[in-house]
Amino acid sequence: VNGREEELQRRRVAIVGAGLVGSLAALNFARMGNHVDLYEYREDIRRAALVQGRSINLALSQRGRKALAAVGLEEQVLATAIPMRGRMLHDVTGRTSVVLYDPCTQQCLYSVGRKQLNELLLNACDKLPNIRCHFEHKLTRANINEGVLEFQQPHHEEVVSASADLIVGCDGAFSSVRQQLVKLPGFNYSQEYIETGYLELCIPAKGGEFQMPPNYLHIWPRNSFMMIALPNQDKSFTVTLSMPFKIFASIQSQEQLLAFFRQHYRDALPLIGEEQLIKDFFKTRPQHLVSIKCKPYHYADKALILGDAAHAMVPYYGQGMNAGMEDVTLLTSILGQQLPLDEALAQFTEKRWKDAFAICDLAMYNYVEMRDLTKRWSFRCRKWLDTLLFRLFPGWIPLYNSVSFSSMPYSECIANRKWQDLLLKRIFGGTFMAALLAGSAFLVQRFH
Ligand code: FAD
Repeated sequence: VNGREEELQRRRVAIVGAGLVGSLAALNFARMGNHVDLYEYREDIRRAALVQGRSINLALSQRGRKALAAVGLEEQVLATAIPMRGRMLHDVTGRTSVVLYDPCTQQCLYSVGRKQLNELLLNACDKLPNIRCHFEHKLTRANINEGVLEFQQPHHEEVVSASADLIVGCDGAFSSVRQQLVKLPGFNYSQEYIETGYLELCIPAKGGEFQMPPNYLHIWPRNSFMMIALPNQDKSFTVTLSMPFKIFASIQSQEQLLAFFRQHYRDALPLIGEEQLIKDFFKTRPQHLVSIKCKPYHYADKALILGDAAHAMVPYYGQGMNAGMEDVTLLTSILGQQLPLDEALAQFTEKRWKDAFAICDLAMYNYVEMRDLTKRWSFRCRKWLDTLLFRLFPGWIPLYNSVSFSSMPYSECIANRKWQDLLLKRIFGGTFMAALLAGSAFLVQRFH
């Protein structure tokens, strides 16, 4: 009888979206004993020849690593990931300089393949008997109150219906599950597109080797625009060119494109190759980037959204996936407290929203830092000072380190930076005033 009661208590959880966050959430719900149906719009990524994802590789940092460790996958992921110890900055003449992320404790980011990571998570899902994966199932309608879902399959006229006790939307920035929540009273939602678009290029391997030092995140900061490159396992680099749409629009011909690259990315041009650049640049349109904030993330004990569905952000802090994975860590710890489900989900919203808003803001800020500030001497001085203070006082955690190499709540990372700024302002303001007074006293004495 106990077994039967336990069986009845187990929830049927429908997770929509088998991307990085959806497949990780499926693992966690299943490990807690729930029956999970994981629905994905695309075909099984393990069979797809070409990933239709947005970026080919991603920077994995502490929060993502922690979530992967919790399901026993961290080591496997890191085994093939490429450590990136700092930023390698390329100036317009092609000269490079390195700014390490963490000269004190040598922490680094890891470049991971989106496809490999997603495959690993899905393989782990396959090993659990209480997860069923349904690929090529696009959610077209959901009745959240009744827990009813409808999916469309390619080449099939009739819709597939399903039901669940809890619907979890991990269906990305343009989430269909969130579209249902938006209709409910009390749901707050805002989105902001930035004027910048991006497109991906490639620096291929040459003679089976990387064409640039692999253990860095390469950046070509150019004030209002920039380019970055992350290493791939096959010794190529995925290059992301970010710039205002109006600059993209001003490049209409092959000659204009080559002239633009010769002027701004002189050293990268021969590495990409002129022919390949022309092909890749004109093959696709630049993609839009959106930042989304909303609240609450749940509805009663019926629905929940996680990852980009709850908080899409511009990609400049490399935290979108990491934050989505951290959602799952937090949710799992709350669900572990065995509260009634509606209370647990309410607690998730309450504990998460400030931090989700904070990382959306930080990602916007880092966009400016990467394309502009990294070049300035004031940025480098601050980086140097932060490193020194971090070395002298371990409690002094620089902003980048707190975001990327710790699990400090994102909103605390901002608060932490604020008091550091204030303290430095006071110290330097005080030192400047003292020097001014001493200088004046000296002059008065000397010339009186
Ligand atoms: P998604 O990855 O968008 O997955 C959603 C899934 O839901 C998809 O598989 C989709 O097919 C499926 N789906 C959508 N609609 C439906 C539907 N109606 N029915 C069924 N299934 C559906 N983050 C980092 O942490 N580090 C980085 O370095 C980094 N770099 C980035 C670079 C770029 C250029 C971009 C754009 C983003 C980057 N990100 C990075 C962010 C990261 O890609 C996202 O935060 C992450 O992919 C979010 O995962 P997700 O599972 O929530 O959503």
